[in-house]
Amino acid sequence: MNAQILSGPAIAEEIKNELQPRIEALKAKGIIPSLTVILVGDDPASQVYVNNKHNTFIKMGLSSQVERFPSDLSEKALCQRIQALNQDPSVHGILVQLPLPKHINPQKVIATIDPNKDVDGFHVANAGALMIGQPKFIPCTPYGIMKMIEKTNVTVRGAEAVVIGASNIVGKPIALLLQAAGATVTICNSKTKDLAAHTKRADILVVAVGKPKMITGDMIKPNSVVIDVGINRGEDGKLCGDVDEETAKEVAGYITPVPGGVGVMTITMLLVNTIEAAEKTLTTF
Ligand code: NAD
Repeated sequence: MNAQILSGPAIAEEIKNELQPRIEALKAKGIIPSLTVILVGDDPASQVYVNNKHNTFIKMGLSSQVERFPSDLSEKALCQRIQALNQDPSVHGILVQLPLPKHINPQKVIATIDPNKDVDGFHVANAGALMIGQPKFIPCTPYGIMKMIEKTNVTVRGAEAVVIGASNIVGKPIALLLQAAGATVTICNSKTKDLAAHTKRADILVVAVGKPKMITGDMIKPNSVVIDVGINRGEDGKLCGDVDEETAKEVAGYITPVPGGVGVMTITMLLVNTIEAAEKTLTTF
């Protein structure tokens, strides 16, 4: 048996098509959704992510600015720049690319972003809103994962969902979204004693750890949905996920590939959040 592949680019294309009328409606009112990304330092992976975001926005006819700063930028100067962007009505979304250099406290920086422009959904106000079931901006990766799960024939309501990894940007928010959709959710972390005992009973398995191919086919429930969030370099130097795709696809019902899976969805949901931020300016004032 071979799992059905949940293709990030294919699902992203559908979502982008659905966004077109919303972009046109905003343009008719003189508004072009606009994102400013701040990149501090020269981390190579961050450079790639930022360029991908910029190119996707430009291709969609949206506005995108990338502000690049040297790695010795002070925390104070960064926060001052964010405060200026908060005040600028032509900027709808602000995203600070993580990780930041060690001397800058990411929580302090994220807290400086106006929650109405926090299109990453990382501000505590947005994280709290998600937790009480009234989300404003859903973090892009978990938001994209939910869109991928919608494309399967698995009903989330009543399903056993297991999330491996408990980060603020992926593990915790996807667990909240699955719970809100009616799943019974288990969150595993590095201290979990018998990981396979949990993964084997998952109808929906989300893996967001950052360890190449750590989940193998024998750890997966037959016909389940396996969402691989990890982006790693394997021993052969090629990109790979946290799931061993070769053995997992023999068992799972659906699987997301790496590359070509969740990563593409993350950028697409950033488009969605930025368009929403622009739409909200019409109702706020
Ligand atoms: P993180 O390092 O912040 O968190 C990792 C989590 O995994 C922690 O909660 C830790 O307890 C848990 N963990 C570590 N070892 C474990 C083990 N052996 N068993 C069970 N749990 C274990 O990572 P993150 O920021 O959530 O990212 C995870 C992975 O997802 C990385 O590879 C990252 O590059 C990738 N990622 C991809 C996207 C995308 O768009 N596709 C977005 C964000 C992150």
